[in-house]
Amino acid sequence: MIKRSVFTIIVAAGSGNRCPGPRAKQFLELQGKPIYIWSVKAFQETPCVDGIIVVGPGDDDDALLEMQTLTKTFPKVIKVVAGGNCRTESVSNGIAALRSNCEISKNDPVLIHDGVRPLITPELISQVADQVSPNSIAIPTTTPTATVKKIVGQTITETINRETTGLAQTPQGVPWALLRKAITHWHNHPGVIITDEGSLFENLPAEKREEITMMNVPGDADNLKITFPKDLNRAEAILSEREKLQKNIPDTPYKPRMATGFGYDVHAFAPNRKLILGGVEIPHPFGLDGHSDADVLIHALVDAILGAIGEGDIGHHFPDHDPAHKNRCSLDFLEKTILLVKQRGFYLEAADITVVAEQPKLKPYIQEIKIRLQQSIALPCQLNIKATTSEGLGFTGRREGIAAYAVATVTAT
Ligand code: MG
Repeated sequence: MIKRSVFTIIVAAGSGNRCPGPRAKQFLELQGKPIYIWSVKAFQETPCVDGIIVVGPGDDDDALLEMQTLTKTFPKVIKVVAGGNCRTESVSNGIAALRSNCEISKNDPVLIHDGVRPLITPELISQVADQVSPNSIAIPTTTPTATVKKIVGQTITETINRETTGLAQTPQGVPWALLRKAITHWHNHPGVIITDEGSLFENLPAEKREEITMMNVPGDADNLKITFPKDLNRAEAILSEREKLQKNIPDTPYKPRMATGFGYDVHAFAPNRKLILGGVEIPHPFGLDGHSDADVLIHALVDAILGAIGEGDIGHHFPDHDPAHKNRCSLDFLEKTILLVKQRGFYLEAADITVVAEQPKLKPYIQEIKIRLQQSIALPCQLNIKATTSEGLGFTGRREGIAAYAVATVTAT
């Protein structure tokens, strides 16, 4: 897998007029630490994040110096730089700092985060980073809980279906080349008010936005933006609740003596593709559609094994937006998964797989598939493979694709 670098720009340069006090709101304290430090801490603790640029106030040298001192304990912080007169100018300064201090490739995700969202979690940060691809930017949103009205002047003109609306949060993730293109366009067309990276992208002319999708990532209602003084009380309450929860969770996850995982996968038939099942090419007029070789049998098996060792799912380990996995032989995924089983201190004892396909008939290939899988697993284990039809019912019955189910059992070594 090609390793992508993920960089972050934390914007903490505002003056915070709505949260009056002696200092700008990013410097207000939450459980004894400035608000922006909580954001830095969350990105520091997110495994996929490689580097952080913090953008501080451009008009307050003392504050900037203080930020430089306080962020020294976070090894991922590359630089603290001064911001500009508006959010976009501050982001632009962050981009300049990334360009001159980091080795960054055009498809690397850059996550831009408001420093006054201190309750961001490493989980949401990873989910946003995962959704960024050369053709997509990622924005977390939450659905409004109240009924949403359109207001013109002093009149309510309509009720908007809230299910089709989202309240944007940060971090918002943009591939590096696109971010630079959007910021250059903004510099060349001054005067437009930009409130987030989504609107920075929307500000690009239509022809430059073609083929780029803005992906919605389910946001977190607790990822508050500290705007008013009362928001701090809510943030304190959420932090205390999190601490209580953490105290009940042991530091190291429970390691069972034996565990079973379940996997399920589906791929649709497509013309001009080879049909690969269990690493074996099976003669058929259609293959399966997918980013890799679309080996639905191995994908279900890998998911079952990952489930048994408590390691998430195939999409997390082998993302389908990664160019390195284009047309990739899925036996590679199986081999890497078996390596992970060893690294986690487990042994794959047995796996049982059922493939559901109306056509082709798979019975003649089952022994060959078993041998291929056994070669990749490279350790003795009990493998059982079954093929069935769905009696003409559903999508498999209509010969639209193939489904596979798998269970895998591991024991601790
Ligand atoms: Mg699949």
